[in-house]
Amino acid sequence: MDPENPKEHDHKKLGKELDLFTFSDAVGKGLPLFTPKGSVIRRELERFIVDEEIKRGYLHVYSPDIAKLDLYEKSGHYPHYKDSMYAPIQIDDEKFMLRPMTCPHHFELFLRKPVSYRELPMRIAELAKLYRYEQSGELMGLQRVRTFCLSDAHIICASEEQAVAEIGKALDLIEYVTSVFGLKLNTDYRYRLSMGDRANTEKYYKNDEAWEKGEDLLRTLMQNRGSKFEEAKDEAAFYGPKIDIQMKNVNGKEDTAFTVQYDFCMPDRFDLTYIGEDGEPHRAFVVHRSSIGAIERIMAFLIEKYGGAFPTWLSPVQAKVLSVSEKHAAYAKEVVTTLKAASIRAEVDDSNESLGKKIRAGKIEKTPYLLVVGDAEVEAKTVSVDSRDSGKQDATLVADLIAKLREEIRTRK
Ligand SMILES: [Zn+2]
Repeated sequence: MDPENPKEHDHKKLGKELDLFTFSDAVGKGLPLFTPKGSVIRRELERFIVDEEIKRGYLHVYSPDIAKLDLYEKSGHYPHYKDSMYAPIQIDDEKFMLRPMTCPHHFELFLRKPVSYRELPMRIAELAKLYRYEQSGELMGLQRVRTFCLSDAHIICASEEQAVAEIGKALDLIEYVTSVFGLKLNTDYRYRLSMGDRANTEKYYKNDEAWEKGEDLLRTLMQNRGSKFEEAKDEAAFYGPKIDIQMKNVNGKEDTAFTVQYDFCMPDRFDLTYIGEDGEPHRAFVVHRSSIGAIERIMAFLIEKYGGAFPTWLSPVQAKVLSVSEKHAAYAKEVVTTLKAASIRAEVDDSNESLGKKIRAGKIEKTPYLLVVGDAEVEAKTVSVDSRDSGKQDATLVADLIAKLREEIRTRK
């Protein structure tokens, strides 16, 4: 981030300049529209997290964006979370809600058949579209929106020890994700142990003993990991304490980017059980967590973090081929076709502008690789590389460039 001039990195400004997302009054406040370029970034983030979670034993599912009001009454979201939910939708003689959370959907999915202790921990994950009411004064670009896609998961565990171990693994995943983004603990993000308030039984599920125990478990886990964290009262979920990963935007506004929560309430409400070694049903334990958070929110942070100069794997256009003059246009197009066939996102600039202007345009767009083609390159079947991060390089064979870019993309450098 450019500390000299943080406003230059404001994601709302860059989002417009780089044509990543927009809002329309006709669609509604806080409802973002992702452009083709912004959609590339979003899709890459989604692929990254889904693939990483599957590697780590998560089971990815799909569930509907709406459900009966009764479901959220059963989960307790309706009374506790009502102010953040939209009004019910009447369909025939039943009321439905746009979902503010995924939890009850995943619990109902879990309940479809008996589960053995051998299948636990069961990590049910989804890129879930959620809908929450935010006051119009609170809305801010992609950071605060009224609909977002959460990388959500609910981990059903056989014991408290298993739940604590899973919270640790969820934090490992989060630390891996932040390392890929180049985010540093205590610089770009901080840990917060978010606790309840025993006196506020309207906001928090009443069970003093369970709160004490849950908060203690999380505190001990953080201490054992040796991670620095702060404690904050009255910031928990209504069903239990959580570890929040807090990030600030360029204007200093802090939000929760990712979260890991210990839940001692939903297993009872949903009667979540598993069949133990003794053949008897036992009460399960639940961990809620988000790994990459809301895609919209992490995009806002990353746009600001990178100042729009995304690493190659996230760049909407990874290479732009610039023809020196009209007679090189056919070869420029041929290079683009070859790059695309190798799964590299490439574009051609074969406009009638001067090469200098084309290079400037490519730099304004923060394209990682500008590839210049003129007489010499057409003759030798090469491209001259101007890299955003390491400057001008020697002419290279297209095949060699492809190998280099593919490795850079694969390793997410
Ligand atoms: Zn949940």
